[in-house]
Amino acid sequence: MKRSIKVIVTLLLITLLLPINVSAVTLKEYEDAVAKYTAELKEKEAKIAKGKEEIAAVKKNIADTEQKIAATEEEITRLQEEIERCDKEIKKKDAESKKIMEYYQIENGNNAYLEYIFGATSITDMVYRMSVAEQLTDYNDKIMKELKQLIETNKAKKAELAKKQEELETLKKKLESEKERIEQEVSGVEGTVPSTKGQIELYQKRVNYYRSKGCNSNDIIGVTCDVPPKVNPSGGGSVSPGAIIGENGFRFPVNGGRISWGYGGGHKGVDITRGCGTPIYAIAPGRVYYVGNGLDNYGAYMVLIVHNVNGRLVFSQYAHVQPGIPVYVGQSVDTNTVVAYMGSTGYSTGCHLHLEMSRDYGWAYNGTYSQYVNHITSPWNYVPSPY
Ligand SMILES: [Zn+2]
Repeated sequence: MKRSIKVIVTLLLITLLLPINVSAVTLKEYEDAVAKYTAELKEKEAKIAKGKEEIAAVKKNIADTEQKIAATEEEITRLQEEIERCDKEIKKKDAESKKIMEYYQIENGNNAYLEYIFGATSITDMVYRMSVAEQLTDYNDKIMKELKQLIETNKAKKAELAKKQEELETLKKKLESEKERIEQEVSGVEGTVPSTKGQIELYQKRVNYYRSKGCNSNDIIGVTCDVPPKVNPSGGGSVSPGAIIGENGFRFPVNGGRISWGYGGGHKGVDITRGCGTPIYAIAPGRVYYVGNGLDNYGAYMVLIVHNVNGRLVFSQYAHVQPGIPVYVGQSVDTNTVVAYMGSTGYSTGCHLHLEMSRDYGWAYNGTYSQYVNHITSPWNYVPSPY
């Protein structure tokens, strides 16, 4: 006990003492994500297969039950017919007994049975006649009694079967609702399969991309591999006339221009106006990693660039630009590179540039979108103000 507490404390201390680098997104994290979602997909597929097996078993059970219900119904019909047949037979025997009596009554005038018996020619004859009449009626009585017994038995059997049939119907209903429940469960799992497949595809794409850039599992993306060009403070190169360059090597993205909406208060970037078609320059050396209008919900065209500031990743976004974008993904750019032309694409009422920046996490570069949003920073932390 004491020993295990010691181990836990030691582990905690080690965890606390380790330098925490929030920007460290290693390739392994993406590989792990691929493995995690692949395992999830496998689990879901197994669940679906099991559910389908269960559905097949329940279906078979329902078919069996239906067969039993049909057999029971048939047996009930048969018993009913038997009862009716017995009933008829009883009526027939009853009529027969009456006929025997009538016969003797007719034979002996109105004095009926007893007179007939006493009118016998001899005692022997009398006994004989008595016994014949008695035997015939006794026989019929016996048959009728047996038939009545049979009716009772059949009625009891029929009632028992009706009860059994009711039980089978209840069972069938239960099986049907069970089937429905499993079917819903299966379709529920099936519904989440495409999104899991999408996650696998997304992370696999990233893994493949960074592998193609020479990254290994433990490399930190953009820092120890796939490193963008470094931003050198006041670092040489030709400078276009009118450019405002800061000591840190960053520049204001257009020559001239006016700030039409500042950073903050719900605005994630800075809006700059300078007329439609104004060339927009990269704010610092870096590498283009996205060009297009597929990321923004309103379809704004944008260019995304990753910069390397002393090993720290800094990202810049140029949005609402014109569709004809003069740079391509993977291109290294510097402060003299025109990366776009001022436009009004997406959610915009007039030509302007929306310049947005983040640190450590870039939109569609590493981490999740919410991680990116939480790392947005004011462009004025890097870009020199034109005023
Ligand atoms: Zn804006």
